[in-house]
Amino acid sequence: MRLGAHMPTRGGVWRALERGVQLGCEVVQLFVKNNMQWFGRPFGPSDLAHYANALAGASFSAVFGHTGYLINLAAPPSANRDKSIKSLIQEIQLAGSLGLPFLVLHPGAHLGHGEQHGLRQIAAALDEVLAATRDHPVRIALENTAGQGTCLGHRLEHLAEIYQRVSRPGRLGICLDTAHLFAAGYDLRQPGTWDAVVEEVDRLVGRDQILVVHLNDSKTPLGSRVDRHAHIGQGHLGREAFRPLLNDPRFADTPGCLETPKSPDLHEDAENLATLRSLIDPPSPKPRPRPSDAGAPARRSRKAASASDPAGKPRRSRRRTAS
Ligand SMILES: [Zn+2]
Ligand SMILES: [Zn+2]
Repeated sequence: MRLGAHMPTRGGVWRALERGVQLGCEVVQLFVKNNMQWFGRPFGPSDLAHYANALAGASFSAVFGHTGYLINLAAPPSANRDKSIKSLIQEIQLAGSLGLPFLVLHPGAHLGHGEQHGLRQIAAALDEVLAATRDHPVRIALENTAGQGTCLGHRLEHLAEIYQRVSRPGRLGICLDTAHLFAAGYDLRQPGTWDAVVEEVDRLVGRDQILVVHLNDSKTPLGSRVDRHAHIGQGHLGREAFRPLLNDPRFADTPGCLETPKSPDLHEDAENLATLRSLIDPPSPKPRPRPSDAGAPARRSRKAASASDPAGKPRRSRRRTAS
């Protein structure tokens, strides 16, 4: 997996990329606008120039977005549903102007109207959104959820049903979140569960639809249906639960993105990245290189990020990032 983290855009959208470089991220997830507001300001020429500059100076294997938290495509007809659709259209336009390949989206909450009604509403809303954004063909990566309240997406079948119902399934993708899987009852601590999840996705929509994996430990127990992210190894999943994913050759180039709590200096991200990298098996011994191979760079030679907590610096309030 190509490892990285959700990076704050405080100070400008390009700052997320600069922070990602500082932390040694191979991938970066960001919000294209304030995640707690319906609409944002389009990027100006100077924003886009700064962003292009920062991107050119980095060597990320992927940069992608996460949509705002107010959007609920599963809602029954209402002003909020209309705003959700408009908001997602704007986010896709913003993501398109940055050249992002996809945006992660929580499918939505049916608010008591039932799962089937909610899934139909999501597909109808996505049809509207995807039709309105044909010139910005950003994909929507449907994220599995913890299933808190009436949130849909806690069963992989929900995501598959959205695929079946939309007119343009080619614009969709899947985001698997480890903490959400666990809270929804998929016990990733057990050997074989990761493979079973991948096989289920493969059977339902195709394994190649998994565009990103969110790497989060869970503060809440198996099947709790409560969404609280913990640092890797400090939750109910435990660090060993991540080993099968991190060493799965089928996902060697798939983004694996942290969304764990962080303070302004981001030292927790550096620690979590180091923990994840320590779980990657060393490459199996290869035949001794022929003399002509000498000096060729070894794979996985990238050093784990080692930014450390400046001594004595008080930890400031922790904010939740994308879930
Ligand atoms: Zn997530
Ligand atoms: Zn999320």
